[in-house]
This record gives sequence, C-alpha cells and structure tokens, in this order.
Amino acid sequence: MAPSAMSRSNDWTTSLSDAQPVPYWLDDPGRPRAEPALTGPETCDLLVVGGGYSGLWTALIAKERDPQRDVVLLEGREVGWAASGRNGGFCAASLTHGLSNGLTRWPGEIHKLEELGARNLDAIEAAVARHSLDCDFERTGEIDVATEEYQARELSDWYEEIRSQGLADGVEYLDAEAVREQVDSPTFRAGLYDRRGVAMVNPAKLAWGLKRACLDLGVRVYEHTPALTLRPYGAGMAVRTPYGGVRARTVALGTNIFPNLVRRVRSYTVPVYDYALMTEPLTDAQLASIGWKNRQGLGDSANQFHYFRLSADNRILWGGYDAIYPYGGRVRAEYDDRPETYAKLAGHFFTCFPQLEGVRFTHAWGGAIDTCSRFSAFFGTAHRGKVAYAAGYTGLGVGATRFGAEVMLDLLAGERTERTELEMVRRKPLPFPPEPFAWTGIALTKWSLARADAHDGRRNLWLRTMDKLGLGFDS
Ligand SMILES: Cc1cc2nc3c(=O)[nH]c(=O)nc-3n(C[C@H](O)[C@H](O)[C@H](O)COP(=O)(O)OP(=O)(O)OC[C@H]3O[C@@H](n4cnc5c(N)ncnc54)[C@H](O)[C@@H]3O)c2cc1C
Repeated sequence: MAPSAMSRSNDWTTSLSDAQPVPYWLDDPGRPRAEPALTGPETCDLLVVGGGYSGLWTALIAKERDPQRDVVLLEGREVGWAASGRNGGFCAASLTHGLSNGLTRWPGEIHKLEELGARNLDAIEAAVARHSLDCDFERTGEIDVATEEYQARELSDWYEEIRSQGLADGVEYLDAEAVREQVDSPTFRAGLYDRRGVAMVNPAKLAWGLKRACLDLGVRVYEHTPALTLRPYGAGMAVRTPYGGVRARTVALGTNIFPNLVRRVRSYTVPVYDYALMTEPLTDAQLASIGWKNRQGLGDSANQFHYFRLSADNRILWGGYDAIYPYGGRVRAEYDDRPETYAKLAGHFFTCFPQLEGVRFTHAWGGAIDTCSRFSAFFGTAHRGKVAYAAGYTGLGVGATRFGAEVMLDLLAGERTERTELEMVRRKPLPFPPEPFAWTGIALTKWSLARADAHDGRRNLWLRTMDKLGLGFDS
C-alpha cells in the first residue's frame, strides 16, 4: 500500500476507536422493559411467533380487523432485538426490493404491486399517527445516486424506461449539479429522487411502539419465550415453550431468518450479514459543509452499494457494501461484529464526504438479512391452512413486513383478496441448494458482482445466466 493510502487508512481506523460494537438504535435509555416470559398453559385464537415487525404488525392488524380476537405473541428474546431493531430505517413503499427487481419478475402485475406498496406506506404513516408511535417517522424520500459515469447513464436510461411505462410518478432525474445541491459529495454524478416512496424511521423505536400499541389493544405479549415445537392439536395447533405452551386456533410465523417451525420453508432463505456505522452528531457547520438539508435517505447504485441517512439528532448512518454469507448458513451472534468491514466502510465514508474529516463513529454493528433468491418476500400456509408464514424480505422489509402481515391474516382467514391473488404471493422462490453448492454459488456471484462494479457494470457469463434463471444474491 502506498504511504499516503496507509496514513489515510490509519485515519479511518482512528475514527472507529471509540465505536461501540452494538446497534446504535438499541443503545437507547428509552428501551422498554421486556414483558414476562410465559409460564404455564395459554390458549388463544391467533398465536403470532416473532416480535419483529412481521409479528408485531400481524398481531396489531389482527386486533384492528377484529377487536374480539384473542391474540398472543411469543418472542424468543426481546421485541425488536434482531433485524427490526438494527436496520437502516429506510421504510420503502416497494414490496419487491425495488422497482427494477419487481419489473423484471412480475411485469404483468407491477402496476398493482406499486399501488399496493404505496398504499402500504400510507397505512404505516397513518398507523404511526393513530397509535402515536414515537419512531421519528419522516417521509423524506430517497435519492439513488450514481458515483460512476456508467451508473449515471444507466440511471438516465432507467428513468426513461419507467417513465415510458407510467411508473415514474414522483420520481425525478437529477444531473450532477442538481444532486449535489441536495447533498454535496464530490463522488455524486447523477441521481434519481423518489420524493414520496420512502420514509425514514428509527427502527427500534418503531418496533417498541408497535409492541406498546399491541399491548394497548389487548395482545398478550410474552418475551424471552421461544416457541420450541409446533404440532397439530385437535382442531388447532399447539406450541411448546420452555415453561409452558400455547394452544391456538391459528398460528402466524414472523420468524424471519431464524429456523422456521415449518421445516420445508427453511431452504428458501439464507442469512446474509450486513453492517453499518453511526457517526457522532454532526455540528451545524459539519452539516452545512455537505449541504444535506432535506434529510432524505441515499443509496448508491453499484451492485455493492452503500446506504446512508441522518438520524433525528443529525448523526449519519452509513451501511452496506459487504454482504457476508457464512458457510453453512447459520445465524450466530459472533457474525454481528466484523471490524474488517467497519474499517472498509469508514474509508468509503470519508471518500464520499471528505468535508467530514475528523468525524468519529460511536457505533458499529451488523445483523442477518433473510435473503431469498428473488429478493422479495414469499408467503404460504401449512397444516391445512392453520399456519401461515411470510419471510425472505431480503434487505427491504421495514415497510413490506406490514404488507406481509396482511397477507398472512388473509391466508389464515381463507379469504381471496387482491393480495392473495397476486402471482408474487401465490408463487415461491427457488430454494437454495445444500452446502457446499450454496456457498460456492454465492461466492461466485459475489465475486462476479464486485468485478462488474469494477468494469463499468458489465455482467459476466455467470451473472447473465443467473439473470436468465431469475436467480440472484443480494442484501
Ligand atoms: C443491518 C441491516 C440493515 C437493514 N436495513 C434495512 C433498511 O434500511 N430498510 C429495510 O426495509 N430493511 C432493512 N433491513 C431488513 C429489515 O430489517 C428486515 O426485513 C425486517 O426487520 C424483518 O422483520 P421480521 O419481523 O421479519 O424479522 P426480525 O426483526 O428478525 O424478527 C424476527 C423475530 O422472531 C423471533 N423468533 C424467531 N424464531 C422464534 C421462535 N421460534 N420463537 C419465538 N420467537 C422467535 C426472533 O427472536 C426475532 O425477534 C435491514 C436488515 C439488517 C440486518
């Protein structure tokens, strides 16, 4: 490494010297106390397993649809400790991990999917107001920025394509000058600004607010209560827990990347670890130096992309780029911390914002993303329709989990709705193969994606074949 690069690299790691290896959002004195664990037997109409957004929205909407319904929620650890409390807080309307993925996979119903997604984000905004969810919800929009000339051309072509298909409502193309007027980085060359389709939230506060709203509506929430087994019992289902058990007429599983209680669902997802840094609060002068006035979220448009945003107290969250798949596809606490990724991210941060030299990071963390081969959620039932599941949101589940909750409730009610009629809801993704094939395929895909980023986006034979098969790997 050249000496100048070496000294810069030292500067970056210095910026990390005080960083706590814990998710910033969960390191909050306002974190609520856990509800007591379940001891003894319980019965209910609907049992929800999982206290992330999936489970919380399912329990909340079940009560809103029918206040008389008796609902119990079990969380194995504490509400919001997993992906829901440690994500970037980009709450997007897209149900399909972005319009491009949705348009490629479901061209025939993309207008419907976009409309349902926009309604879903409106419904989240309305629920935030109705239940006074204190989660720093800000409907700021998001800019997808190009940092290379070929990306600027691709963004411009893409904008023309979505405009011609009537899918560019609220989206604006920004040239280099216009994008740098919004947020000033010397690396920005163009941008697509979606003004309505994304909100910023404090993720952990959203989960905690949903828990409080569930309790207020009479949901019985048990934390530190893993559901250990699931089996038919009479006309319903029975779940065993460490100190008790629940008999329920129906069960909704919002357990994300953790081992699904319906075993056959497990091969549809793999854990991909994603990492983020949080800076100290910026001073007014520092904020002015990058001109970030409208508080929108940003993401860059490489395959290995970064996402970044402001917190309520003007810190910058900076995450993404590395997407780590551990051999064997296991979820382990030790994977949540990855100093070599933090150092890389810190370097990229100061390349993007050289004006912020000297800023320090206070938190650095990671978490598992439930990646599926089509990058967007899949749904299904088991045990003759008495159990429903939704998983596979990949890196865009903050908003879409609310839609998934509605789908699970539709499926359990046996109702045909505009949601259950969707091809996206009726069809499943291709499962991942067992090891060593999963690891080898993912490693080859990651290597090819990095190569494409270094070669003006050109996709090699492997990626083109995967594209044709509708298979992929993303975070
Ligand atoms: C670092 C990171 C950044 C991300 N950034 C974004 C972003 O900016 N925007 C976005 O849209 N998405 C983002 N995501 C993805 C998003 O966070 C997830 O899609 C979403 O939180 C999934 O919610 P969930 O409820 O399905 O899962 P989780 O939040 O993982 O909740 C599942 C819960 O189920 C519990 N559980 C599992 N099994 C059992 C059992 N047997 N018994 C009892 N409880 C059980 C777990 O303890 C856990 O609390 C990010 C994810 C990560 C990790």
